[in-house]
Amino acid sequence: MDDGSVKVFKGFRVQYNDSRGPNKGGIRFHPEETIDTVRALAAWMTWKTAVVDIPLGGGKGGVICNPKCMSERELERLSRAYIDQVGRIIGPDKDVPAPDVYTTPQIMAWMMDEFSKINGCNSPGVITGKPLSVGGSEGRGDATARGGAYCTREAAKYLDIDLAKSSVAIQGFGNAGQFAATLFASILGCKIVAVSDTKGGVYCKDGIDPEAIVKWKLEKGTVVGFPGTTPVSNGDILELPVEVLVPAALENVITSENAADIKAKIVCELANGPTTPEADEILYKNGVFVIPDFLANAGGVTVSYYEWVQNMTNYYWEEDDVHVKLDKKMTKAFQDVLVMAGDYKVDMRTAAYMVSIGRVAEAMKLRGWV
Ligand code: NAD
Repeated sequence: MDDGSVKVFKGFRVQYNDSRGPNKGGIRFHPEETIDTVRALAAWMTWKTAVVDIPLGGGKGGVICNPKCMSERELERLSRAYIDQVGRIIGPDKDVPAPDVYTTPQIMAWMMDEFSKINGCNSPGVITGKPLSVGGSEGRGDATARGGAYCTREAAKYLDIDLAKSSVAIQGFGNAGQFAATLFASILGCKIVAVSDTKGGVYCKDGIDPEAIVKWKLEKGTVVGFPGTTPVSNGDILELPVEVLVPAALENVITSENAADIKAKIVCELANGPTTPEADEILYKNGVFVIPDFLANAGGVTVSYYEWVQNMTNYYWEEDDVHVKLDKKMTKAFQDVLVMAGDYKVDMRTAAYMVSIGRVAEAMKLRGWV
């Protein structure tokens, strides 16, 4: 530590399934990290990479620490120490970590540098989510929200909803939520009528200028008080009369308590796990079309895959190329899940699991693992 003392941190790396390619999944720095959470998230990554059909498996990592109470130098030492410990089991052809809760592009740069140092060669492909100048990819920043927008476009086509006449409410205004606001307006032509963050939400039925509210949030630290809007609570924002609802904050926000009051026609789950299983059933019965989290937010890992491909070939793509490739990938993934849902008369989440588990099972069988 900076004061000269020595502190021992506990960390994990779980490699859940690599039948379809090297394991892939983020590293979290969190005071309440547990091996069970990391294990569950590694499994989830397996289904996520499989549902978008990218040749990677599922992994996850974590370190029990509180980054908010650590200096930059301490975080750098911790990041390098983590790689010193897991360096032998990760690598561009084995397991490729990425940022997650409280880990940043800078942390990815330190980790990549440490791995390169240990192996005596430049290895940008060991980790994704790096800054552009050390092998990051164009288009990674907004990839999660962009993937969700492409899925929503496809869902609207299927449901015959005119997005240009549709309104959107977004719960959560961080990386995923802010880009969702700008992209759902710019790519899909939707009207953003409500957004919220931890301090509360704002609503305007005539629409909120996404660029202006992103700027406001940057300056004030919250969306609350944005001119021309009325306050809305984080509970009420979910029940507004909109065509598209985007949960982009926390898990378990749509529950058996409020599911029957959801008026949106499409729920695009950018957050991980926003809907409880009980709520899922209610939404399905009420005809609410849910784009499940591990499909809706898979744009992030897809562009991470593109970053890895660029690192491995040492040839870097323009932003437009990334967008075109992401669009094709997300559209195909959405259609695969939609066809499965239609064939087996199941909801989109069940169908997404059927597609991804089927792909992993097929790879395992072909390799002779089962
Ligand atoms: P973030 O930390 O950048 O933003 C989270 C936002 O949620 C913040 O604006 C915060 O104020 C808000 N929030 C927190 N508690 C809230 C509450 N009770 N009510 C309303 N808003 C609340 O995180 P992020 O990267 O945008 O991730 C958001 C969700 O999307 C998470 O579930 C994450 O796992 C998921 N996700 C993100 C990515 C990505 O690339 N960023 C990829 C896949 C999944």
